[in-house]
Amino acid sequence: MSDACTYCGSDVSDHDPVFVEEGTGDGRQEAGQFCNYACLSAQIDDTDLTTGACCRIDLGG
Ligand SMILES: [Zn+2]
Repeated sequence: MSDACTYCGSDVSDHDPVFVEEGTGDGRQEAGQFCNYACLSAQIDDTDLTTGACCRIDLGG
């Protein structure tokens, strides 16, 4: 597996790496690796990963 950061392409082992996995129907699969939370956050912002996604349920009070 490559050590390249999903966001910036740097070698994550040179930094303080963060690894992301996504749940699939029957397990988990790698979704990315990042130098640190800054690169993860930038990737999320750049790809709008959080748009429309929220684990909180609005019960409508
Ligand atoms: Zn990076």
